[in-house]
Amino acid sequence: MNAEPHAARHVFGALLSSLLLIPFCQAAPVPGSEPTSSSALVDARPGNLPIVILAPHGGTAGIPEVPARTRGSKLTDSYTSELAESTAVHIEELLGASPYLVIARFKRRYLDVNRSRDEGVESELVMDVYDAYHGAVANFVTEMRRRFPRGALLLDIHGQKQEPATIFRGTRDGLTVNRMLHRHGSNALTGPRSIMGILKSRGYQVFPPDLGAASQPEHPDFAGGFTVQTYGSHHDGGIDAMQLEVGRDYRLDAVTRRKLARDLAEAVASYCQNYLQCGE
Ligand SMILES: [Zn+2]
Repeated sequence: MNAEPHAARHVFGALLSSLLLIPFCQAAPVPGSEPTSSSALVDARPGNLPIVILAPHGGTAGIPEVPARTRGSKLTDSYTSELAESTAVHIEELLGASPYLVIARFKRRYLDVNRSRDEGVESELVMDVYDAYHGAVANFVTEMRRRFPRGALLLDIHGQKQEPATIFRGTRDGLTVNRMLHRHGSNALTGPRSIMGILKSRGYQVFPPDLGAASQPEHPDFAGGFTVQTYGSHHDGGIDAMQLEVGRDYRLDAVTRRKLARDLAEAVASYCQNYLQCGE
């Protein structure tokens, strides 16, 4: 489903050098309007915690005059933008500081930012939108590396319907959280105080299911895509990066989704306090 790891390994530096000069905008789209500029299509908000939450596939805005892509999935990960935003709000309530946030407002049918530029962009018209998204992510990752020497975490929020009641973890089997594993051991990824461990303790079905067994492989379809491979901590300039593929049953119903946002926020806040010394 994604670019191969070796290719992605060199992308981060190239992205940084080519994108750092691109300004990103913090403006959210005006309700009822159809945003057309790249700044309105990418909602990027700086934060004060060593956490950045991304939602690349939940956008609903059209982009006039841009044809739909002909290759790769065009499906929207429904309600993942809302899930990412509510999770960020709850984290701020819990910790008194906000995570960084980057939300794609455009429909995935026009471009896919969880792919390389060659794969995810078919029309010249959306090249600047792709660059605005990755410019924002690259800027935030670089800033977080500088501000938070104890480590930082990128959470890339997606949705899947293959296993509607399961949340899949994607880290390329630990590769993209290399620094976390090196500093804190496998407990930080799979133990009772890990994000997946806390979700499981609250009744969510997670995969890999047998937490505590660090070597259990991730599902090959959800093991982590372009973004976590590009910004993960296996790169010198990266941070720990984890993809979450949230089953449809946890997203479509508003009450269930709001509960997940609260539980995920508590899991992330707990991870932040236990492993990243947030709030000290
Ligand atoms: Zn997705």
